[in-house]
Amino acid sequence: MKYEPVIGLEIHGELLTNSKMFCSCSADYGSAPEPNSNICPVCTGLPGAMPVVNKKATELAALVGLALNCSINKHNTFARKNYYYPDLPKGYQISQYELPIAEKGFLEVNDGSENQLNVRVRRVHIEEDTAKLAHEKNYALVDFNRAGVPLLEIVSEPDIRTVEAALDYATKVRAILRYLGVNSGDMEKGVLRFEANISVRPVGSDEFRTRTEIKNLNSFRALVRASQYEIERQIKIYEEGGTVVQETLGWDDAREVTTSQRSKEEAHDYRYFPEPDLPPLQLSDAWIESIRSQLPELPEAKTARFISDFGLTPSEARFLTSERTLADYFENVVAKSKSPAKTIHSWIAGEFMRYLNDSGLSIDDVTLAPETLAKLIDMVTDKTIGASAGKTVLTELFKNGGDPAQIVKEKNLLQMTDVNAIQEIVTKILNDNPKEVDEYNAGKETLFQWFMGQVARTTKGKADPNVAKELMVKGLEERKK
Ligand code: ADP
Ligand code: MG
Ligand code: ZN
Repeated sequence: MKYEPVIGLEIHGELLTNSKMFCSCSADYGSAPEPNSNICPVCTGLPGAMPVVNKKATELAALVGLALNCSINKHNTFARKNYYYPDLPKGYQISQYELPIAEKGFLEVNDGSENQLNVRVRRVHIEEDTAKLAHEKNYALVDFNRAGVPLLEIVSEPDIRTVEAALDYATKVRAILRYLGVNSGDMEKGVLRFEANISVRPVGSDEFRTRTEIKNLNSFRALVRASQYEIERQIKIYEEGGTVVQETLGWDDAREVTTSQRSKEEAHDYRYFPEPDLPPLQLSDAWIESIRSQLPELPEAKTARFISDFGLTPSEARFLTSERTLADYFENVVAKSKSPAKTIHSWIAGEFMRYLNDSGLSIDDVTLAPETLAKLIDMVTDKTIGASAGKTVLTELFKNGGDPAQIVKEKNLLQMTDVNAIQEIVTKILNDNPKEVDEYNAGKETLFQWFMGQVARTTKGKADPNVAKELMVKGLEERKK
């Protein structure tokens, strides 16, 4: 029998606010001088301490909800999710349960075979992050600096049917959070975490079978590997006539297996009840509209515009819009340059990215001004310099900055376009190598590249390649016996 997976994702992302969700401690716990220095009675759960809602966090949460095509609940409420764990000082987490800030959205994703698929977003709700535990040999340490940092949970409906679609959904949510500036997307730092809910069923069936939930996936790779592993594990169970047990699993990155953590808790295990210390949030239409007006152009819209305005292919456009800063950089170069947008895409996707990758830099580290890159690309377009000289200049610009025209002068990189001068060089090469000329004319066509290589060597790559090629073809033809 053939099986298909059914996947629903839960994504937790911290919000980039100045202060924590319910107190005025800094949310930038990474900058805290030492463990347990960034804390107060509220975020350590001291008796009698009263929470106050962070206004900025509600704005950012609403912004995410709108970006994910959700409707905003003008009346939404906080709830206590009760459970005991040493990283949860109050013995409960303040979350949203019955009425989240946003719900019923959707996100269009690719299922891995160029088919588009609408994944419904069930809800987006506000909660608070937990403390951090460090497990030592026979004891554990707890650091409350992170406790109470605003956390957003984004829950999808179980609409995903392939691991590729799960990856695309997660990638798109991360890109949107970064576009909105609400989360850095820095997964190594744990500010964004995925949970995958997975079940499998016979292809063609529409039943929803028992699922398992894999917690705390801290990279795209872990999301993909863990999902693939879990799908296969469940298929094997059904094929052997067994049943899947509903449980919460962990992912062991080193051994690449899912491990059982506990049997799945149900909502009633948490004894959710309305948070008595916080009034419901009442949002006005005007407030919601003011948040909506802050929405930037999102990746999907930007991709469509890049395709229609710049004549790029979908995959070229998607590459450029994967990061807002990269898309902005590209558009700034286009605005300053006389070269076609396609050419500018080729430079950025090619030499430019190669340099960044080789030197471990990101687009945010680039100090090269877009107008300078535009100048350089234009010099190649108008044949002032050749493509390989252009690469030399780009490396120099990245390393030491400067002006492209100046560098071309200093390094003597001007392209030779003088036909007579190139003709002289071609003639000399042909006269100096009669043996190779005969071999070529006798049918060894691969020698043509060797002749062109001689031109490149003699001119240090500065001869206009089209002119040189034309003259070389003519010269060889003339020497045919
Ligand atoms: P809970 O409230 O217990 O966490 P939910 O039904 O609210 O459970 O769903 C949690 C997540 O599990 C959602 O992302 C949802 O899409 C997903 N999910 C629900 N049922 C299934 C299923 N049969 N297979 C895979 N995922 C599922
Ligand atoms: Mg859950
Ligand atoms: Zn605090």
